[in-house]
Amino acid sequence: MAALCRGRHRWKGLKGLLVFTRNFTGRYDYDLVVIGGGSGGLACSKEAAQLGQKVAVLDYVEPTAKGTKWALGGTCVNVGCIPKKLMHQAALLGTAIKDAKKYGWQMPETVHHDWATMAEAVQNHVRSLNWGHRVQLQDKKVKYLNLKGSMLDEHTVRGLSKAGKETILTAKNIVIATGGRPKYPTQIPGAVEHGITSDDIFWLKRAPGKTLVVGASYVALECAGFLTGIGLDTTVMVRSVALRGFDQQMAGLVTDYMEAYGTRFMWRSVPKRVDKLSSGTLQVTWSDTETGREHKDTYDSVLWAVGRAPETKALGLDKLGVQLNKQSGKILVGPDESTSVPNVYAFGDISEPYCFLNSSGGCASPWLYICLLASRPNTKGKRTEEKIFQMIALLCIIRD
Ligand code: NAP
Repeated sequence: MAALCRGRHRWKGLKGLLVFTRNFTGRYDYDLVVIGGGSGGLACSKEAAQLGQKVAVLDYVEPTAKGTKWALGGTCVNVGCIPKKLMHQAALLGTAIKDAKKYGWQMPETVHHDWATMAEAVQNHVRSLNWGHRVQLQDKKVKYLNLKGSMLDEHTVRGLSKAGKETILTAKNIVIATGGRPKYPTQIPGAVEHGITSDDIFWLKRAPGKTLVVGASYVALECAGFLTGIGLDTTVMVRSVALRGFDQQMAGLVTDYMEAYGTRFMWRSVPKRVDKLSSGTLQVTWSDTETGREHKDTYDSVLWAVGRAPETKALGLDKLGVQLNKQSGKILVGPDESTSVPNVYAFGDISEPYCFLNSSGGCASPWLYICLLASRPNTKGKRTEEKIFQMIALLCIIRD
C-alpha cells in the first residue's frame, strides 16, 4: 500500500492512474519482469516461464564511449567469456602452428595472423548466440523487450526505447540482473577519449596493434594473454601486484609464464596521462611508484582493465528504498537473492554479497524462482507446506 501511495504522488495523469488501478486490483501485466538479459536474467526468465509464469525480460545495451554496442545475452556472450575464449583459441592455434614445425609439419617460414578474419568469425558466432537467445525466449513464451528498464515502484517498471518511447509494465515480482560495465579512470587525462575497455576489444574491426593493458587482474591478464598469443606487442602495467586476492605464489607462476610467452610487464607503475600524437599513436606518460620517475612510450591502443562497476544509478532504486552498498554501488541481497524491498530480487554482478560468476548464472536463477514459487499462496490462499518441501528438495539437487 505504501508503494501505491508513493506511486500516486509520483504518477500524474492517465498512465499513473492505470498503474494505480492495476496495483490496487492486484492484476499485473506479468508475474515476473526481469531487467537485464544476460546469463542470469535469461536463465531466470526462461525457468520462470517453464514453471507457468507470465514473464517479460528487458534488455538494452548502452553503447560504450567508443560507440561499441551489441545485442541480447549480456557480458558473457558479447564482451566476456565467449569472445575471450574464441580469441584465446586463435592464440593457441598460433602456438600450435609454431610447435607443428618441430613435429615435421612443413610450414612457410613466417605465418601471419589476420585480426579482421578472426574478429569477423568471432562476431558472427556471437551474433548467432544473440539470435539463439531470442529464439529460446520466443519458444519459452518469454516476452523480450529491447528497452532500458528502471523501477517506478516495487511493482512497476518503466522501459525506454532507443527513440525515447516509454512503456510501462507492472509485475508481481521484479528481478534486477543488469550486471556491470568496465570502469574508466576518468581522473587520468585522455583515458576516456583515447582508451578502450574489454567492452570494445572483441568488436574491433582492425588489430589493436602495440597495446598497453592497464590493470593486473582477471580481465587485464586474459586480454594480454590472447593479444600476445596472436603476435601483438603487449605490455601489462601493474600498479601493485598481479591478481590481487589470489594466492600470490600462483599469481607469480601465471605472470612468469606470460613473460616467458612474450607479454611484457611494467611493475609498480601508474599511468598519468594519454595524449594522441599527430601520427595517430598514443603517448602514455606514467610514473614509477618506487622511484617517482616519469616515463613515456607510444602505443597503438590503451586498454583499461581497472575493474568493473554496477549500473545501479539509472535503475531508480534510491526512490524505492532498495538498499545498496554505498561504496560498491551494488544491491545488497540475502541468501535467497531478495533485496530490502519485497517482490524485488537481484542477482549476478549487480548484487552482493552472494555474487555468482556468469557461468553459474543459470544455477542462480532457478534457485531464486523456486523460492518465489514456494512463497506463493496456493489456489485456496494458503501456503502449501508440501510444496515448500518439494521446492527445498529440488533446490538441494540444483545446488549440488
Ligand atoms: P579487478 O579485479 O577489480 O582488478 C582491477 C585491477 O586494476 C587491479 O589490478 C588494480 O590494481 C588495477 N587498477 C585499478 N585502478 C587502477 C588505476 N587507476 N591505475 C592502474 N591500475 C589500476 O578488475 P577486473 O580484472 O576488471 O575484473 C572485474 C571483475 O570481473 C572481477 O570481479 C572478476 O572476478 C570478474 N571477472 C571474472 C571472469 C571469469 O569468471 N572468468 C573473467 C573476467 C572478470 P590494484 O591491485 O593495485 O588495486
